[in-house]
Amino acid sequence: FVSIRNLRKSYGTFEALKGIDLEIEKGEVVCVVGPSGSGKSTLIRCINRLESFSDDSEIRVDDIPVRPGRALAKVRAEVGMVFQSFNLFPHLTVRENVMLAPRRVRGTSRADAAAQADRLLARVGIAEQADKYAAHLSGGQQQRVAIARALAMEPQVMLFDEPTSALDPEMVGEVLDVMRSLAGTGVTMVVVTHEMGFASQVADRVIFMDAGEIIETGPPSQVLSNPREPRTRNFLSAVL
Ligand code: ATP
Ligand code: MG
Repeated sequence: FVSIRNLRKSYGTFEALKGIDLEIEKGEVVCVVGPSGSGKSTLIRCINRLESFSDDSEIRVDDIPVRPGRALAKVRAEVGMVFQSFNLFPHLTVRENVMLAPRRVRGTSRADAAAQADRLLARVGIAEQADKYAAHLSGGQQQRVAIARALAMEPQVMLFDEPTSALDPEMVGEVLDVMRSLAGTGVTMVVVTHEMGFASQVADRVIFMDAGEIIETGPPSQVLSNPREPRTRNFLSAVL
C-alpha cells in the first residue's frame, strides 16, 4: 500500500537516506527504531513529501506517485501525521481544532464536522474536553486531540513521529493506548518510536535503521528479541 523504492535524500552533501526499499501492506503496523540521526524522521516525512527526495527514488501511496504536482494533494489527503509537538491551535477549542481540516479542505458542513469531531474525541477518550481551549489541556490530552485531528480526514495511512517523546512519563500510556486501539482498525500505521514495549506488542513489523539505511527488518520477536545484526544488538542493549 505504501511502496518505497531506492529512496535517497541528501541535505547538501550529507546523505540522510541511502537507498531505502520498503513495501508496507494495507493495515500493517510498522515501527521504525534506530539511533538519533539515523534518518527515521526523514523517512516518514518523505512519505507525504514534507521532504523532497531524489528524482530516481519512487514512493507510491495507494498506487499514487508521491511527486510534486496535482496528485500530491490526493496523497496528502490519504496520509495523516502526528508529530512530537502537537501543533494545535491554542486559541481554538478542542472541537474546533478537529473540525478545521474537514471544514477547510473538504467543505464539510459545520454541523457534520462538529458531530464527527465529537465522535473522534470520544474515540480518543476526551469527549468531555471538547469545549476547552486546546492550550488548557495536558500534554497527553493534546496529543490525543492531535490524533483525532489527523483522523478527521479519514486517512488510509497514519504516520507518527515519536508521538510520546515530548510527554511527561505519566501521560505516555494514555497516548499509546489510543494508538494501540487504532492499530486494530485497518489503518496502515508507520510509527517512529523509542517505546520498545509498544513496538513489541503492537507492530506487525519492526524496522531498525542506522546511518540512513535499513539494517534489519522483521517481526518484533525477531528484530527486538533475537536481532541478527550486531548494530541492532548494540542499539537495543543501549536503550533497553
Ligand atoms: P532522532 O531520533 O534524533 O529524531 P532521526 O533518526 O529522526 O533522529 P533525522 O531527523 O531523520 O534523524 O535526521 C537524519 C540526518 O539528517 C541527521 O544526521 C540530521 O542531522 C540530518 N538532517 C535532518 N534534517 C536536516 C536538515 N533540514 N538539514 C540538514 N541536515 C538535516
Ligand atoms: Mg526524528
